[in-house]
Amino acid sequence: MNADCLFCKIIDQKIPSEKVYEDKEVYAFKDIHPKAPFHILIVPRTHIDSLAKIDEKNITLLNPIFLAATKIAKQEGFLEKGFRTVFNCNREGGQLVYHLHLHLLAGKQLGGAMGA
Ligand code: 5GP
Ligand code: ZN
Repeated sequence: MNADCLFCKIIDQKIPSEKVYEDKEVYAFKDIHPKAPFHILIVPRTHIDSLAKIDEKNITLLNPIFLAATKIAKQEGFLEKGFRTVFNCNREGGQLVYHLHLHLLAGKQLGGAMGA
């Protein structure tokens, strides 16, 4: 828990969010400014700033995030139709909130340019 972190506060229910999924390792909730009909954020309960902080010791943090993505896609009916997952990393990667989060977007034909 990082006292200054928005997503730590959301995980702790100090700030309200629309929960989509949770388990021991991750919490997933609707993005407040959705870029697709279905747009959620999957965050590890353990605070880590960004993908740039992943190393040999903490790489295992990523497994439950991707497992949750697949479970949620199935739960919401997007597994076959398709979906997109995105990590924005640091400033030029477009990261605004420095608690690692995987965007999961679905519910329409997504553009091919990946925001570039
Ligand atoms: P980033 O640019 O860091 O990859 O994405 C941060 C995301 O968090 C943005 O898509 C933004 O809409 C979302 N976001 C920012 N503040 C809040 C909030 O208070 N609640 C929720 N649910 N989403 C937020
Ligand atoms: Zn945090």
